[in-house]
Amino acid sequence: KVRVRFAPSPTGGLHLGGVRTVLYNYLFARQHGGDFVLRIEDTDQSRYVPGAEEYIYECLKWCGLQPDESPQVGGPFAPYRQSERKSLYRQYAEFLVQEGKAYYAFDRPEELDSMRERFKTAENPSPQYDHKVRQEMRNSCALTFEETERLIADGVPHVIRIRMPENETVSFTDMIRGEVSFHTGLVDDKVLLKADGMPTYHLAVVVDDYLMKITHAFRGEEWLPSAPVHILLWKYLGWEADMPQWAHLPLILKPDGNGKLSKRDGDRLGFPVFAMNWTAKKEDGTTELTKGFRELGFLPEAFINMLAMLGWNDGTDQELFTLDELVQKFSIDRVHKGGAKFDFEKAKWFNHEWIKKADTASLKADVRRILADHDMSIIDDEQLGKVITLVKERCALMTDFVEQAGFFFQTPQKWDVDAIKPKWNEAKQAFFGDVINYLQQQTNWNGADLEHGFKELAAAKQIKAGEVLMPLRIMLVGGKFGPGVFDIAAIIGKEETIVRVKKVLE
Ligand code: GLU
Repeated sequence: KVRVRFAPSPTGGLHLGGVRTVLYNYLFARQHGGDFVLRIEDTDQSRYVPGAEEYIYECLKWCGLQPDESPQVGGPFAPYRQSERKSLYRQYAEFLVQEGKAYYAFDRPEELDSMRERFKTAENPSPQYDHKVRQEMRNSCALTFEETERLIADGVPHVIRIRMPENETVSFTDMIRGEVSFHTGLVDDKVLLKADGMPTYHLAVVVDDYLMKITHAFRGEEWLPSAPVHILLWKYLGWEADMPQWAHLPLILKPDGNGKLSKRDGDRLGFPVFAMNWTAKKEDGTTELTKGFRELGFLPEAFINMLAMLGWNDGTDQELFTLDELVQKFSIDRVHKGGAKFDFEKAKWFNHEWIKKADTASLKADVRRILADHDMSIIDDEQLGKVITLVKERCALMTDFVEQAGFFFQTPQKWDVDAIKPKWNEAKQAFFGDVINYLQQQTNWNGADLEHGFKELAAAKQIKAGEVLMPLRIMLVGGKFGPGVFDIAAIIGKEETIVRVKKVLE
């Protein structure tokens, strides 16, 4: 049975790339009738950030990508939080030591620093802990068996490191990249078990993928350099036959293609990189908000559709896919090898399409909340529905409803009078006086009748309708935008229409 996992470290908000990893895992699992596991990789306590785990749950919920197994919902391989599995990992590290594939290392931080000083060269300014320096350090490869035993018995703090072979090639077949090879001489002896007994990511990810019977491991390309360590661990632990199939997903690049879109790019490039708002607490006690797609006004359907297309297509020109369609059509071998440039305008295009497609009722709650955030409380649900139907085509972001729908519920605070003034004259002033009379007498308050009546009046006064329609719009809306002006008048009602015309006339 197919089993995939998303294995985030709870260190902050979820970046676009993280959610895309979730999505591809999810699609693959659903397509194969498999399980999608969420495992929290929190063994690096120094990087643990409160709230980050809850953020992940909320984000997956918002996106509609709910895991089948997780710390929240449990499952047959619980616990799913690595810190709660701490006691499990040591035995595997010890086993590797017995097999000669790993060793104890007792080096103190200052000894590591001095090693880096001693071995650094111009070409290699920060030497690794590898086969070239291993014998120079305090570890069970360099010490006698008795010395090692004594240090352990004395309770000297130690870690366990993998013993990377000096001169081997590690190869594997990546589902996206094909055959990938690494020369082991270039990889350092990564720590597997830390002095506090916690595993590092490298050990924990392999042990847990094995114990949780993961069949396919999809993750970002940034993990490719770690793959040789993981593959050797699978081999050394005697689990090679059960090793998952790997797929390293292409990076999401900055819009100009110049490097990876990183968490630090949030806001700086003028668009979000996080799925939802994230508030980081800084050391000095202040907080820093990084904006998210959700709060900016993206619909989850659009967000995941857009993410799906960052690195994949179905081979046709189709760009709009529902989640169900993606489940049907997604295939990992159509995922591109090269990085995908992120284009915020294109992301907004997706959102605009999804807002247009959405049925009005499904948008009501969000629009109501967004308007409430701007001090507009909507009482009339039917009116809200009419407004949404009328303006949704004009909204690329849900937050655009503030501008595009706000004037239906609130008298404009300012009017673009500069747009009216240059061509204003006495005839128009008088005409709008007549318009007020006309409106007051009007009984059939609907768009078609109002339009008809207004145009008739203009004709009677020998004024070109084209010259008074824009002023009317500015009176009702405040600016030169919005749907049909008589539709607007019909919705805001007689009293309010007259109030607005009068305000500008005075
Ligand atoms: N804990 C790693 C992360 O934060 C998981 C990488 C992997 O999927 O192996 O992304």
